[in-house]
Amino acid sequence: MITRFLGRVFSGRLFRPPQPKIIPFSEHGIARDAISACALRVTQTLQRHEFSAFVVGGAVRDLLLGRRPKDFDVATDATPEDVRGLFRRSRVIGRRFRLVHVMCGPETVEVSTFRGPNVMEEGDERVADEHGRILRDNVFGSQEQDATRRDFSINALFYDPASQEVWDYHDGVADLKKRRLRMIGDAEARYREDPIRMLRAVRLAASRGLEMDAATRKPIRRFVDLLAHVPPARVLDEMLKLLLSGHSAQCVEQLRDEGLHRGVLPLLEATMGQPLGQRFVMAALRSTDERMLAGKPVSPGFLFAALLWPEVLAAWRAFEEQGENSIPALYHAMERIVDAQREKLAIPHRFTADMKEIWGLQPRLLQRSGRRPYRLLEHPRFRAGYDFLLLRCASGEMAPEIGEWWTRFQHAGEAERAGMLVQEGAPGRRRRRRKRRRHGGGGEGGQHGGETKAEG
Ligand code: ATP
Ligand code: MG
Repeated sequence: MITRFLGRVFSGRLFRPPQPKIIPFSEHGIARDAISACALRVTQTLQRHEFSAFVVGGAVRDLLLGRRPKDFDVATDATPEDVRGLFRRSRVIGRRFRLVHVMCGPETVEVSTFRGPNVMEEGDERVADEHGRILRDNVFGSQEQDATRRDFSINALFYDPASQEVWDYHDGVADLKKRRLRMIGDAEARYREDPIRMLRAVRLAASRGLEMDAATRKPIRRFVDLLAHVPPARVLDEMLKLLLSGHSAQCVEQLRDEGLHRGVLPLLEATMGQPLGQRFVMAALRSTDERMLAGKPVSPGFLFAALLWPEVLAAWRAFEEQGENSIPALYHAMERIVDAQREKLAIPHRFTADMKEIWGLQPRLLQRSGRRPYRLLEHPRFRAGYDFLLLRCASGEMAPEIGEWWTRFQHAGEAERAGMLVQEGAPGRRRRRRKRRRHGGGGEGGQHGGETKAEG
């Protein structure tokens, strides 16, 4: 009884809820035609049935920043069953907190019922684990409560397409104007509740050009280890969002600035500590970002292969120096590095399989005699292996000549290809040359210098 009463007091149910700032169209300038057709249809239908309905979260933030939103989410006081009943093409998803996906043509809009704080009631199961991490998050609430349980002030904005107003409970619009990223409430407590918010803070700050305020930033360095208690699938999801944000280079730099890489990509510490590793990783991230911005596909396996390559290379060399043959040494190095990564964040098999193929192709790309280059062209992962090779050339790890050779070879006619093949020399001599080239010692030619651009 007492806990229930206190719960109501603290959740604000007995207080008059704080009023939002209501910002009119004349001040923010976002017209309803900036909202996707599906989101507009969803809010209009809900409102016609006397429910409140707002576009919410990242879409409002991005519109105010002048960016095109990736997708549109709607928040409402209608229950999932209400929503499901209003839209024929919709389905309820999620077990703990149920959301509704409403489909119109190719577009899907996520509709969530306003969520409130989790209040411990008698006979309740645990709401948080021993580190304060929220385990359940499934209580309906008021719009104001929904705003307060969101992470950052700039993510707690509601846009009503009917009135074209922005409802702002936590001064998010002012923060956006100052380009400030600020956690709602007590930042330490909010990170404890959900450590993923640290990764979200870095991604948002780096990808939207925002600066964290001191209170939002400061706890992160100390709380890195809390990530270890989050289900790995969530960490991986958030890392993929970060790497595929189109701003992966800035995001990874900021991960390092905040010390947060230690919780997700621990090997980055060593990699970025040496110029070649840093050049390679940054070249890979920048090229990924360019591909994302150009709307080209990017594979997570390729990205992780790049992030871990400098350490694979170092281990490969070390095993060779201990007397292992080159190819077994490479496979040994791959296992070693994937294992080391697993300590913080296990990369799922569907990606590690790709990564190993890309790495495994690297020595094969040095073989340019006989039938071997023709066979390699037929390899299903040739393209990825070749793009990877170009990054090695661009970063200065390899002579540019070898990348240029493959660029030409792919597009050459039969006669030209035959003329390009490297003549088989004496076996001993070949092996020495191969080793020198792989280890970045120049190789033949290289007169074109510079980087060869990948397209795909
Ligand atoms: P984007 O979709 O561009 O990656 P987003 O901010 O929209 O960014 P989503 O994961 O789509 O991110 O989340 C939608 C909204 O849900 C956020 O804007 C925020 O209000 C809220 N939210 C998401 N994750 C959390 C979290 N871990 N804690 C609190 N609120 C969250
Ligand atoms: Mg979103």
